[in-house]
Formats: sequence, C-alpha cells, structure tokens
Amino acid sequence: MAPELKGLLEQVNKLPTLPAVALRVIELGEDPYAGVGEITDVVANDPALSAKLLKSANSPLYAMRRQVDNLRQAISVLGFNAALTLALSFSLAPKHDAGPLDKQAYWRRSLLAAVGARMLAEQLGFQDAAKCFMGALLQDIGMLVLEKAYPEDYTEILAEASDHAALVLAERGRFGFDHAAVGAALLENWRLPECACKAVATSHGISTENVEQVSETLRCVYLSGLLADRWIHPECSDVLSARFAEQTSLLFGVDAETCDAILQRMEESLPHYAELFEVDLVIDSDRAVGLIDEAREVLMLRNLRALQEMSEYKQRNVMLESRNRQLEERSYIDPLTGLLNRARLGQMLEQEFHSAIAGGWPLSLGFIDLDHFKRINDTYGHQVGDRVLIDVSRLLQEKVRQADIAARYGGEEFVLVFPGTSQDKAYELLERLRKAIASDVLRMDDVEISITASIGLATFPGSLEHVECNSPEELIRAADRALYAAKREGRNRTVIYHRSSS
Ligand code: GH3
Ligand code: MG
Ligand code: MG
Repeated sequence: MAPELKGLLEQVNKLPTLPAVALRVIELGEDPYAGVGEITDVVANDPALSAKLLKSANSPLYAMRRQVDNLRQAISVLGFNAALTLALSFSLAPKHDAGPLDKQAYWRRSLLAAVGARMLAEQLGFQDAAKCFMGALLQDIGMLVLEKAYPEDYTEILAEASDHAALVLAERGRFGFDHAAVGAALLENWRLPECACKAVATSHGISTENVEQVSETLRCVYLSGLLADRWIHPECSDVLSARFAEQTSLLFGVDAETCDAILQRMEESLPHYAELFEVDLVIDSDRAVGLIDEAREVLMLRNLRALQEMSEYKQRNVMLESRNRQLEERSYIDPLTGLLNRARLGQMLEQEFHSAIAGGWPLSLGFIDLDHFKRINDTYGHQVGDRVLIDVSRLLQEKVRQADIAARYGGEEFVLVFPGTSQDKAYELLERLRKAIASDVLRMDDVEISITASIGLATFPGSLEHVECNSPEELIRAADRALYAAKREGRNRTVIYHRSSS
C-alpha cells in the first residue's frame, strides 16, 4: 500500500468499522454451500440488522400474504444478497453525519451499481453475481474516507465536479490518487475478500489489453459504474448508454443487442429496486438509531426462543456450563476477593478469543485499577485496604452479566471480559460500574471510605483506530495502555484504547 494512503487511513478515525456480523455475512456469501440457517445464525447476533431484515421482508414490496415473523423466514424471502446488502449498508452508511457528501446520492449510486453489476453478471451467465454485487456496492467507499480526511478540499472538489468521471480526475489532481485507490486500501485493511478489494481498485478503469486475463468480476464492477451513471444522469442517457455498450463490447465482446437487453432489463427492474432503495436501503441516522432501540425491545423479546435455538448460542451455553463447573474449582479463585485469579483469566481469555473469532462476535476487555489505593493502606492500614478490595470485587461481581468474566489481575487491578459485546456497549457497562464504585461508601467503625477507579477499554476485532487487539496479550496490553491514559488524564474515568494512548 502506498505510504500516503496508509497514513490517510490511519488518520481517519471517524469511519465506522465493519462489524463482525457484516464480515461473517460476506464470508458466507463467498461460500456456495452456506444455507439460510447459517446466515440466520450470523444475523441473529445483530438485533438491529435482524429487525431491518424483518421489516424489509414485511414491506409491501414482497407482497407476502402472511406476516413474516421470524428471521429465518425473512432471510428466505429476501435472499442472501439482500441480507448481505443490508448488513453492509446498515453498518457502513455513516450515521449522524452531515458533511459535504450527499449520502443519499452516494448510496443511490452504490446500490444502482450493485444492481447493475449483478444484472450484467446474470445476463452474461457468470457464476459470481454475488461478488460482482459486493464489489460494485463498495466501489465508492473511498469517498467517505476522503470526505473525512480532507473536508475542505473535498467540499470544493464535490461542488465543482459535474459527474463521477470529473470527480475522479479532480481527486487525482488534488491528492495524487482517487477514491478507488483509497477504497481498495480501506477494504484491504478490513480484510475483505481480495476479489472485492481488486474490483474496487479497478472500478474507474480496466486496461483493455489482455482483457481475458482480468476476472469477470472486475470487468462487471467497472461497467457497473457506467450503468449507475446512466441512471444518475437521465439527461445524457443516450450518450451514457452508448458508452456503456462500447465498453461492454470491448471487455466482453458482446454485441449491441445484448447490451440493449441488459439496459432494458435494468430499466424494467428499477422501479422495484428504486422503491426498495428509498424505503429500505438508504438508512438515515434517525432511523438507524430508532431501529436499534426498537430492535432491542421488540425483536429480542419476540425472538428470544428462536435465538436460543441458534447453534452458536448453543455452543456458548455449553461453554458457559463448563465455565460454571470450572468456577467451582478453587485453584482458579483468588482467595481474598473470590474473583477468578490471573492464571485462570489467561486461560479463559484464550478460549473466549477463539470463540469470538469462530463466532464472528466482538470481545471487549476492561482493565480496572483503583485510584490512589496506596493511600488507603497508608491511612487506615492493610486490613482496611483488604476490605476495600473485597467490597469493590463484590460490586464487580454484581454488575457483570453471567456470560462476562471478572478477575483480579493483581494487587488492586481487575480485568473484566465481555464476550460478544461491542465497544460502545462495554463502555456503557464500564462507566456504570465506575460510577457505582465511586458512589459506594464503605463504612468501617467510625470512618467512611470511598474510592474511585480508572478503567481502560479495548475491543477485538481491531478497527482502524485500534489495530493492535488481535490476540489475548495484545488486547490486555491495549486496555492497560488505555488505563494509563485514564490515570494521566486525571483518574476516575474510562478511556477507550487508541493507538496514540500509550
Ligand atoms: P494509582 O492511582 O496511580 O493507581 O495509585 P495507587 O496508589 O493505587 O497505585 P500503586 O500501584 O502505587 O499502589 C498499589 C497499592 O496496592 C500498593 C500495594 O501495597 C497495595 N496492594 C496490593 N495488593 C494488596 C492487597 O492484597 N491488600 C492490600 N491491602 N493492599 C494491596
Ligand atoms: Mg496499580
Ligand atoms: Mg492503583
């Protein structure tokens, strides 16, 4: 990757990360043997996305006579690609984001291109329609990066560019690279399939020499941009249709009639898709936030039983049972506080890491250190210090959920592990805990003792901002660094690990 692109990606810390669930859906999309059951399992991990799929399946578009009331049915109705699209568009569409780039227009182009690429692949009889769809959908993602990285430059460029080709030229002139290069670098960073990265990289042009050696997917994605532009600029539809036909015959050697047939088919299906895009695929910030709340309340309750039947949940339950058994073994327990000891934490974190990778869910870790604890010992004596440790441990034990792990790392340091918990959620939990510790008063004889804690938080999988959380050791180290940042910043606070928090 060119160093300036790498620097650019590192500097953009406001982009949403690709959640584990979207990554898993993509992986399943690549697997010809993956069935509805498997994708259901994955999507069920994300209540907001599940709700979105249910809503889509129940939209008038699908004209279902019966109410679709479970996820499995919804995915059967919508199909694999829609699930994939929703997973991606839902997680990538920037939320709470004004910015110079018109997000509606941005998503409309991406989705038009995605539909176009699929149609092209189907019409020409290729196997990889789903890959074409994904590559086309993501081809302009680099625009989101450029908008964030160079807001002023990009505002100007966007205002001046009359169409996509002009935009690309302006980007190259201003930055030395275009959004296709940025997007490809970003997708590589996210470890998306190589084919998608390449398709994005060549989305603005494919060399017509040795064209047979360029994969069909790459060719389709390139042409999909032309297809999208044909509908974005209806005022020049003749010119753009001709350009599409010319490029398609160059890249695939098909005749004008076939090109006409593709355009015709796209034209016919667009009212259907346009409605779907407007209603279901372009998700604005308010709806996204609303959906999450709604999903928590409605979906989680309604589908609780279904969720429990999912195989991944079953696996986790088996793990929980064996964990409970192991908890009873005394060698794993810290004698003073009754929490797990450090050795056991190491083993369990290792296990949780494997599960998180296998199941495609996040793993958050909080590192807690009591503030100025030495003063308690110095002022009231070691025994009172011990009582404070016991008291705080009780709070930790009370506040974490059954699936979480609470351990004493050493002295007045504790570690909490939250399997399947996003960074935002873990932050919420840790902040609640920190406040509970701060407001807790331990009464002993005639003194009242209170204490505060500093907390560092890190989450696997790593994102653009924190790429160094990819093993149990790295995750602990990252949380520890964030903890030290919390100390430096004045204690009694929770700090999220960031590459610069060392
Ligand atoms: P900071 O806010 O920077 O963390 O200050 P601190 O005083 O909490 O940090 P420091 O690491 O200097 O002190 C930790 C103290 O914890 C020193 C040690 O004597 C005490 N300690 C460690 N284990 C135990 C224990 O089991 N019982 C008691 N009472 N004290 C302990
Ligand atoms: Mg300490
Ligand atoms: Mg301390």
